[in-house]
Amino acid sequence: MRHALIATALLMFAGHPHASIASVPAHADDGLLPSEIHGDGFSFPVYRASNDAQFVQENSASLITMYREISAIIGVNPGAVSWSEIAFTRDENYVQPRDKEGVARWVIPLTMDGTLGAPGQQEMFLTIPHEQAHAIQKAFGELPRWFSEGMAEWAGLKATKLVAPLLYADRKNKLNAAMKSPAAPTHLKSWGGVKPKPEAIFRQLTPEQKERMAKEPGYFPPGPFTFGPDDFVSDESNTFLRYAASRQVFETMESESSPEAMREWFSAVRNLPSPKTTQDIVKLAKDKTGLDISKMID
Ligand SMILES: [Zn+2]
Repeated sequence: MRHALIATALLMFAGHPHASIASVPAHADDGLLPSEIHGDGFSFPVYRASNDAQFVQENSASLITMYREISAIIGVNPGAVSWSEIAFTRDENYVQPRDKEGVARWVIPLTMDGTLGAPGQQEMFLTIPHEQAHAIQKAFGELPRWFSEGMAEWAGLKATKLVAPLLYADRKNKLNAAMKSPAAPTHLKSWGGVKPKPEAIFRQLTPEQKERMAKEPGYFPPGPFTFGPDDFVSDESNTFLRYAASRQVFETMESESSPEAMREWFSAVRNLPSPKTTQDIVKLAKDKTGLDISKMID
């Protein structure tokens, strides 16, 4: 029973904290039309209003460049990826239809004139490459949070750099600044892990244990404790710093090994049974890149 409860909690917190995402049918009647974009050897649909056909035509090269880049970095064939859908719309009240589970659609807001304003640029050049790296990861199976977010932020930003260098520089400055600020340790290993709420433990303690906990900061009373489904929270502390630190793991590894070694590592991680553990991923990093990343993850 305890295992069943933990599994439920894990599923609840498996999603990502970013932007807006919805599950939609592939052919939803939301007033937008599908438009197939063809790269070299791969294609993907985007959704847009009839009067935004030219906009999509003019901007499809950026999408193709980004999708191709993150595929190359991670080492997958872009034609084999189940890319998340994107929708361009001038309608600020646009709501994705939610009839069917399983298909993610990202919204890129356009200005009233049908151009990319600042919010649209943010979504198109920063959110989309990050989230499409997650789309690639769907074929990997269940990954620890630091690995999935670190890879998405690292690979996504490398794609951003090709098409929007100013946005890339701005985001990188913010990530670097976060890394320099004095903050609590990132504990990447436990990011997104499920932990019981402190009060769920506290209510099960004896008065003596409560008193000792108040006096001794390092003291943690021995269990066993029992928990219900409402007693768990996902460990989401220090989120921005954790994005920065996770990305840094990948960037450091790449600079100290090679893009080829990184791809060999990703391929080996992909072949691990799911859910993949930090311990196994760290060991494979050593095997494939020669680097010991255990201290960066702790
Ligand atoms: Zn993410």
